[in-house]
Amino acid sequence: MNQNSKQPNPDVIIIGAGIIGLSIAYHILKLDPQCSIIVLEKEKLLGLGSTGTCTGGIRYQFTSPLLRNLSLQSRDFFLNFETVFDVPCWYRERGYLMLASQESIWSELKNTAEQAKIEGIPVNLFSQADLEKNFPYLQQGRYLGGTLGKWDAYADPYAVLVALYAWVRRRGVTVSFEQEVTKIITQGDSIQGVETTKGTICSPKVVNASGPFAAGLAATAGIKLPVQPFRRQVYVCTNPKDVPPAAPLIVDLASGFYLHQEASGKTILLGGTDNDTRPGMKETIDKSLAEDFFLAAMEAIPSALNIKWLRTYTGIREQTGDFHPILGEVPELRGFFAASGLSGHGFMHAPAIGRILADQILKGSSAEVDSVLLFSKRFSRGSLSEALVF
Ligand SMILES: Cc1cc2nc3c(=O)[nH]c(=O)nc-3n(C[C@H](O)[C@H](O)[C@H](O)COP(=O)(O)OP(=O)(O)OC[C@H]3O[C@@H](n4cnc5c(N)ncnc54)[C@H](O)[C@@H]3O)c2cc1C
Repeated sequence: MNQNSKQPNPDVIIIGAGIIGLSIAYHILKLDPQCSIIVLEKEKLLGLGSTGTCTGGIRYQFTSPLLRNLSLQSRDFFLNFETVFDVPCWYRERGYLMLASQESIWSELKNTAEQAKIEGIPVNLFSQADLEKNFPYLQQGRYLGGTLGKWDAYADPYAVLVALYAWVRRRGVTVSFEQEVTKIITQGDSIQGVETTKGTICSPKVVNASGPFAAGLAATAGIKLPVQPFRRQVYVCTNPKDVPPAAPLIVDLASGFYLHQEASGKTILLGGTDNDTRPGMKETIDKSLAEDFFLAAMEAIPSALNIKWLRTYTGIREQTGDFHPILGEVPELRGFFAASGLSGHGFMHAPAIGRILADQILKGSSAEVDSVLLFSKRFSRGSLSEALVF
């Protein structure tokens, strides 16, 4: 190990100052205020990773009970956010309206609503007639039914990121920008630290919270992390005239199309039909997708025909094959922790993931996590096999 440019050695190194890395730092300090932590971030500024492009949806309607549970565990964080951090994150419970145009999806939606209700999650069912009465801007006759999760919400990811950053900084965490981790250093089956563009840092505990870069980083220690990055394209548009600014987030489950009202009420974010693009880190906008996309938009909401397309941006998010995260200590490498594969849920689940990882790092286990999400259990048994609809 090159010790020439040695930096102070903290109790925990966290790689990545995205929502996950900072949530882990926050939850570690809540458990142990004396723990010394350094967060290493390759970029110059906060929010240049996935978190900066995240649209800020929070939902409880998942077919997977494990994902519903992560949402439930995160709920108090968002409800108490303003009291704890003394800044707003523009949290607003507008609901997600999940729409089914096929019998199989409608049946899955009803099933999920039933399960969610048993867990105390409020979800309302809408028949075709109810939908047409309550949401007249939807394509008449297209949907067999829909569900509205009353707790499903929006919040501002950047506001949460900055609040976490300020909170951990005030409590002594070093967040070092423009310091890229280039290699995970190991000795036998234990972690030793990391090599960075500014020298070597040693620590018995290193957390990989590098988002879409996680698999590449793990590979420098010979660890295979089964996550892949995918580009997602978001269309910023003017509001369709008949969709009120307080409308819920609308998702057409057959096409994947979603409509998300921005906090200002003046613009909307549209997206969701590019789920079958190939994995990769390319962030360039693919204009060839636009025609099919706007056709899908008009199939859901006919007045989308007259909206103004203002701009498009892309973001990268990382996924596992089953859309569930990989959490906890890597079995082959003591002291190396994964917080990866957050898919399209990393913002809403960041509070739960932060707490679970803090427990794992400080206590060696967490009562709050189903063991199937843990690195070791998950991959020794094979990936989750349930067919996820959403
Ligand atoms: C378009 C889009 C919309 C989304 N919408 C939602 C949504 O509505 N709700 C939701 O919950 N989730 C959503 N997501 C997913 C969510 O954004 C992510 O799951 C979440 O931001 C992941 O956070 P992270 O901290 O793991 O990753 P990031 O925010 O990417 O943070 C990782 C950080 O690690 C840094 N890094 C990487 N490699 C290194 C290295 N070698 N050394 C040092 N630093 C490094 C990166 O620069 C980055 O800052 C969306 C994602 C996209 C792309």
